[in-house]
Amino acid sequence: MLIDSYGRTVDYLRVSVTERCNFRCQYCMPEKPFSWVPRENLLSFEDLFKFIKISIDAGVKKIRITGGEPLLRENLDTFVRMIHTYNPTVDLAMTTNAFLLKSAAQKLYDAGLRRINVSIDSLIPSVAEKIAKKDVLSHVLEGIEEALSVGLLVKVNMVPMKGVNDNEILDVLEYCKARAMSVRFIEYMENVHANVDIRGMQSHELLSIIGSRYRYSDEGFDGHSPSHYYRLDDGYAFGIIEPHKDDFCTKCNRIRLTAEGNLIPCLYFDEAMSIRDAIRAGNIDEAALVLREVIRTKPEKNRWSDPDGELSKRAFYETGG
Ligand code: SAM
Ligand code: SF4
Repeated sequence: MLIDSYGRTVDYLRVSVTERCNFRCQYCMPEKPFSWVPRENLLSFEDLFKFIKISIDAGVKKIRITGGEPLLRENLDTFVRMIHTYNPTVDLAMTTNAFLLKSAAQKLYDAGLRRINVSIDSLIPSVAEKIAKKDVLSHVLEGIEEALSVGLLVKVNMVPMKGVNDNEILDVLEYCKARAMSVRFIEYMENVHANVDIRGMQSHELLSIIGSRYRYSDEGFDGHSPSHYYRLDDGYAFGIIEPHKDDFCTKCNRIRLTAEGNLIPCLYFDEAMSIRDAIRAGNIDEAALVLREVIRTKPEKNRWSDPDGELSKRAFYETGG
């Protein structure tokens, strides 16, 4: 078992398979040109898998493949199959922008993937284009329909922003409700890479909009999920991810691995330790020691609600959110 210095059991590994992305979401990516990590620095699926096996053997029970955009990485279904075959009881999921999902969904399902989270920030083509800096919506919606039709369980993520998509919160909720997909509204997490003009929304603002049309009850938290759940009177459940709340980190059970082999204890902070050289050299013991050290140094909490906290330098497109 992996237990951090605050007594939290860490059993969830998020694996970013690439930092590259075919979108440029304004809350995630810098607008100025920037350079990607050179391809030779990225770990192969075989090397990522070596570390995944170490993590599973140490107690990890849930793995999420993410990015950047994970579907940009060729043969992702092969990677899914490697993990699923090694331990079919591991809860394996993926987060994607769904742009390339239509042609990938069946292969991913056949390889053992059962759950995906998809981002929908707007159902208006021009607004979705403004957010992602690309005409994306029709591909995204087709990808979602295909995923549902092959049997994948789909959850939707939306990052509400004032003056951008705050008038679509009920529309996105209703789009998801009509397809029995749970939606999670993610409070915008301020970071140095994002557009400086973004004004995020906090849970009480979101609930006031939802409460203008629906009655809901507070269902609290489900296990270690970071999502605070609410249920409408007709039984439909939606979630809000509230990193600005003081108790957000008390049940944190996750660490993150980037595509270049940096192991990250917390989404907010810049600290990381590399397992790349150890894994490439086949030094499993060394990589396992780094894993233990990252768990030991996992911070108690993020600083998104701290008035003295600096703006986070950690890039979401590297860590996979
Ligand atoms: N490209 C995939 C996608 O967009 O779903 C996976 C990677 S993305 C970094 C993972 C999640 O992080 C997405 O749901 C995205 O909306 C969320 N995200 C990115 N930047 C964020 C920010 N600054 N605040 C809150 N959520 C953010
Ligand atoms: Fe790409 Fe996802 Fe970041 Fe958007 S949120 S730029 S889709 S990694």
